Amino acid sequence: MRADRVEWPFRQYWIDLAWMAFAAANLAAMLLFASWETVPFHFIWVSLTILYGFRVWRLKPTALTLAVVMIASGAFIGIDVARGKQPLDELTEVPLMAAMFVAMVWHARRRLAAMEQIRRVSEANVKLLDRERRFLQDASHELRTPITVALGQIELIQRTTPDPLVREDAGIAVDELMRLRRLAERLLLIASAGHPDFLRTGTVPLDELVTDARRRWAATPRRWVLGELPAALVEVDRERIGLAIDSLIENALEHTSEDGRIEIGARVDGRMASIVVADSGCGIPPENLEHVFDRFFRVDAGRSREGGGVGVGLSMVKAISEAHGGSVAARSRPGHGSAFEILLPLARSPSHRGEVAPVERSSVAGLPASPPG
Ligand code: ADP
Repeated sequence: MRADRVEWPFRQYWIDLAWMAFAAANLAAMLLFASWETVPFHFIWVSLTILYGFRVWRLKPTALTLAVVMIASGAFIGIDVARGKQPLDELTEVPLMAAMFVAMVWHARRRLAAMEQIRRVSEANVKLLDRERRFLQDASHELRTPITVALGQIELIQRTTPDPLVREDAGIAVDELMRLRRLAERLLLIASAGHPDFLRTGTVPLDELVTDARRRWAATPRRWVLGELPAALVEVDRERIGLAIDSLIENALEHTSEDGRIEIGARVDGRMASIVVADSGCGIPPENLEHVFDRFFRVDAGRSREGGGVGVGLSMVKAISEAHGGSVAARSRPGHGSAFEILLPLARSPSHRGEVAPVERSSVAGLPASPPG
């Protein structure tokens, strides 16, 4: 009988009913055809095991089914034994089969319970993350307006006051408010990174991202080096990636003296492109390296704060890279320098597929595999 023809309320139980009919037919066969010995008996148990694998029953129906199958099939084998048509030891199979079935039920239920637990925990985690993201988004959004208003007022006082002492104090307040505004903006950006509208992507030549950044920072005194610039295309939000590169360069500047070296370049490896910012600065201790992308992490909190850092720059770089389907990595040798690498998937443009060739060389042969030493 087809499932959709079975009348409600049995429709949802049609598999169970079909199995019952199959089991009953096998029991009848056991009774009628003694020469078949325990073959129908095995059919019953195998079909029961297969069925349970697909539909895990509650404990009561499981126990009931088990008891019915054991008693009925055991009784029919018992009758055949009594008639002398089967050897007595066939009866030992009944509790053995039942024990195997119970072991399988136990494992299935344990697995089910574990999966249910995982589902509940991950649901709770998703809710928690979502709440955290919304809080971050709301808080940073709400902070922006009062900060901007206060900044405007203080800047006005700074410009108009005749008192040099007040001007100096206003200058300090302006710096702090600017730092706060930057923090609010970065936090808002991190919180928005998972949003589908976060990126406005376009196909961009990889080398342009590097040369644009180099141009933006050219006036800052350092030994700037332009690394390799392979001709490749990436599908990115130019503004956001620019922000991430700038953040890496700001960090490099922060930790490198004026005669230090900063190298910006790009690389292509398989289906991934990368933009690398390497410096010859103070480096990062190995025990801190794995934490630098954590929110609010600062290697030297006191010194970092003096420099205007609050520990969200690299979290922002990570959020932007991951929003593009990429990642960010760091290498460092304390006392020798650091290298940060933003990895991005290459654009899937058929006309440019495979168009990857180095076009320009830096004064240093290629980018360092490790920070400059
Ligand atoms: P911040 O805004 O405070 O600079 P980041 O998230 O950008 O925070 O960086 C986290 C920490 O990583 C900083 O406190 C800094 O000490 C360290 N760091 C980042 N970039 C470099 C670098 N190029 N050289 C040395 N240390 C770095």
